[in-house]
Formats: sequence, structure tokens, C-alpha cells
Amino acid sequence: MKSLSKSFPMLREFAELVPIIDCHDHTLKPGPRFLDPIHALVEGYFATDLWSVSSDNDIQYVLNSKIPWRERWPLFKELWDLAKNTGYGQVIKSVLREFYNIDELTFEGMEEIEKKMPNLEDPAVFDSILEKANITLRICDIFNDGSSLDVITVPGTENTLALPPRGRMVISLPHFHSICSYDDIQTRMAPLNRVCTKTLDDYVTGCYEIFQQFKELGAVAFKDQTPYNKSISFSNPTRAEAEKVFNWIVSDPRRKASYPDQLKPLDDYLFHRFLDMAADMDLPVQLHTGLLAGIRHDVSKANAILLRPVLELHRDVKFDLFHGNWPYSGEWLFLGKNYPNVYLNFCWVNTIDPIYSQRLFQQAVSSLPHGKIFGYGSDYVGYATHAWAHSQLAKDNIAIALSDLVDMEYLSMKEAKDIIKAWLYDNPNRVFKLGLPDLHFSQEG
Ligand SMILES: [Zn+2]
Repeated sequence: MKSLSKSFPMLREFAELVPIIDCHDHTLKPGPRFLDPIHALVEGYFATDLWSVSSDNDIQYVLNSKIPWRERWPLFKELWDLAKNTGYGQVIKSVLREFYNIDELTFEGMEEIEKKMPNLEDPAVFDSILEKANITLRICDIFNDGSSLDVITVPGTENTLALPPRGRMVISLPHFHSICSYDDIQTRMAPLNRVCTKTLDDYVTGCYEIFQQFKELGAVAFKDQTPYNKSISFSNPTRAEAEKVFNWIVSDPRRKASYPDQLKPLDDYLFHRFLDMAADMDLPVQLHTGLLAGIRHDVSKANAILLRPVLELHRDVKFDLFHGNWPYSGEWLFLGKNYPNVYLNFCWVNTIDPIYSQRLFQQAVSSLPHGKIFGYGSDYVGYATHAWAHSQLAKDNIAIALSDLVDMEYLSMKEAKDIIKAWLYDNPNRVFKLGLPDLHFSQEG
């Protein structure tokens, strides 16, 4: 994508020079292995657009890699033609051009893709694509990449935890506060190699010890994606209310608290205590807000505005609110403007809705300090090819947005370049204390 603005070429070129800190992804290890051309292209987000324009049965059929792709091709092509112009579709088209030299998707093109699919399981291939995207570091939620969660149970017992390529990890929270049963508690506490299930205090202390171990292993933030399961309108229960649920659970190992209603006092209480720990450990907290991956979700329970009481209560925690809170941009900008402890993260939203992102980048400049924005996060769970294309799209969006502002003399060219550098590199480097070197560019032009 491009803009006709006379400032666009220079800003787009500058965006290409700035190393990117990828502010959110889920890659645990290089991969996946592409099974066939359909799998190599549409698995994940774009599949939800194909689903949205078809039916549950159709999408299951199109994605079923056990059926030869040539049999699925006619239906896939029919749906592709109905869905290809979305933001997710832009990423697929970009992948087609860059990695397969294809402009229009045809059966012959699919046969070419089958021959050329890159081996993403090869660390060198995977890394070379990150290099091509100029992604210098990735903040990764490795516990939600679809791999075994065994890895979460061993950080204290292993000296090292394998990190993804160019990755720093975050500590995934929902697992620890949505405990429903005695077995859940045992599983969470397993890294400590001790039985500590008698009291709520034991459990909270145990979590703190585990989080400290993650920090020692290099974790740079906490991360929570509660709205996949329940509303982010967290209550502020008393310790006694939480303890009542906890004691009910542990006093009979056969019990299971119903989730989320019966569990809510305990779940919400633990969430608040974990935020206390984030303040104590000086780690920012990344929160999913807005659109949920998949389909037939209730986005209203993921609207960031519901977090207002949490943001007010925990003034000593830095919150990083995800995904442009799509489609609630106004609420998101308000929270970023109004709270010194709130940062706004454009991860995923650059492809969810590129036009929304372009307008939001502009409004962000005019409504809140540019030091509070993180401009890019892949969120593509492996699929380095798509992460590359997504990064290109994000740079397009940013350059399109800022070139308009330069043309209308809202910003000078130098100010626009400084904003690009801040959004893609300086801000996350500073807020997540990543320790990467300062960047210096000659500023003529
Ligand atoms: Zn994510």
C-alpha cells in the first residue's frame, strides 16, 4: 500500500531503516511445517475471513489438510475471491508476491507454491525472514503458541528455558488466576516441587516465587488475555471472599468451581495480587483488549474501557493495551491519554484493519504523547512469512498516516521520522527495559 503524498516515499524508506521491536508474538520455536499450499497461506487469521463469508462446515473442509489440497481448491478459490480484500487478505497477497512471485491466485500458482514453500522449521530460514523484516527483537507469549504447556511447569527446575528466535518471553497470567480445582493448583505449583495447597496465602506466595524464576530467565513483562474466557470487568473482591472459594476447592480434591461465575471472587482477587507483583517486580503488564481471534466471540466484554477501575487502582503498574482495542478506538485513545500508566500497542491491529490503523496512528499523534505508542506486533504464531508481510503493512500504515500529517504541516519531516523511530523501537526498548542500543540516523531531509 502507498500514499500519493509527496512525503510518503521518504518516510516509507526511513521506516525500512529502523530496526523493529516486535511488541507481541506467540512463536515458541521455528515453524510450522507447511503441509500444503492452503496451509502455507491461510491458516490462522485469514481463515476466519473465509469462515465469516461461508459456514462452519465449509471452513472445516477448506482447512482439512487430510484431504488433498487439489480437492479443496475449488471451494477455497470461491471463498478467496469473496474475502481477499480484507486486511488479513493484504498480508496473504503480500506473501504471495514476495515468497512465491504470484500476483493472482490460480491453480497453477498453487502448484508453484507447493514446490517453493519455505522450511520454517529450519532456524536459519526462519531467522533470515525475521532479518528481512528488520525485526531485531520479539516480545513473545510462548505459552500460547499452541505447543505443550509442559514448558510452563519446569522453569524453576531447568536452568535454561529455550527461547524463540530473537525472543524475550512474557509471563502468561490467566493460567495462574483461573484455577478451578485442587488439580489445577497442583499443576500450577509443580515447578516448586512442594505441596502448597492448604491456604490462599501459600498459593499466592508460590505464584510469586514462580514469577520471580521467570524474571530470572529473562521475562520482560506479564501478559493476560482474559477476555477469551470472561469479561475484563474485574471486580475488587475482599481477601475473605477469595479465600472462601479457595478453601471450598482445596477441602475436597473432587470439587471443581464453575468457571467463571463461582470462581470470580478468587480469580479477580488473584489478578489484583498479580498486578501488585508486577509493580513489585517492575514488569509492565500486557493486556488483550478488543477483537478476539476466531469467530463468534463477544467483543463487548473485551473493550478496554472496562479496565478503567483496574488502571486507576494500580497506578504503580505500566499497562500495555493491545490490538487498537478494535473496534473501540475512541475508548482506547482516551485511556492512553488519561492515564500515565497506560501505553497503547498496535500489535495485530495493523492487519485486522489497516485503514482503522492508519486513522488511529494519526489520531494518536494529535491526541496523546507519541512516547506512549508501540507501533508493531506480529501476533502470527510462527508463520515468519506472514510476520514479514505484516511488518511491511505496519510500515505502510505508519508512513501513510504520518505523510498526511507532514503535508498538512502538522509535523515536520524530522518530527515524523522521530515518531517512526519511537513507535517501532525507542518506546518498547525504554518501557520494557530491553537494553538495546540507541539508534542514530543522520537527520537531513
Ligand atoms: Zn496474541
